[in-house]
Amino acid sequence: MQDCIFCKIVRGEIPSRKVYEDEEFLAFHDLRPQAPVHFLVVPKKHIANLMELGPEDGALVGRLVYKAQGLAKELGCAEKGARFVFNCKDDGGQTVDHVHLHVLGGRALSWPPG
Ligand code: 5GP
Ligand code: ZN
Repeated sequence: MQDCIFCKIVRGEIPSRKVYEDEEFLAFHDLRPQAPVHFLVVPKKHIANLMELGPEDGALVGRLVYKAQGLAKELGCAEKGARFVFNCKDDGGQTVDHVHLHVLGGRALSWPPG
């Protein structure tokens, strides 16, 4: 998508602090980290939000979650864990309309969200 921020990051038109990249996914540190570890994993394919997933996207999202788990372990979250979050549309607090999985770790996080 031409004017999507995360598509621009995927294309290298906006710089990011990269955590990982392969042909399907890019992971990069969040610009405004909310925890000592806070990175995002995005599919390179533009999908606006989780409500837009089609049946063909199920395996892609499964691989995305599994990749996020491995990166969380590499960044030191294996023992104490982390939070894996997909915000979706307005009520979910989504601000960038390109599916992304937040991974937050390195401190204890409260629940429930506000
Ligand atoms: P959302 O609120 O949509 O779930 O999460 C969007 C996240 O993207 C926010 O945590 C925000 O800090 C992050 N973000 C927005 N723009 C940029 C950017 O240009 N670069 C990076 N690295 N993160 C961004
Ligand atoms: Zn996009």
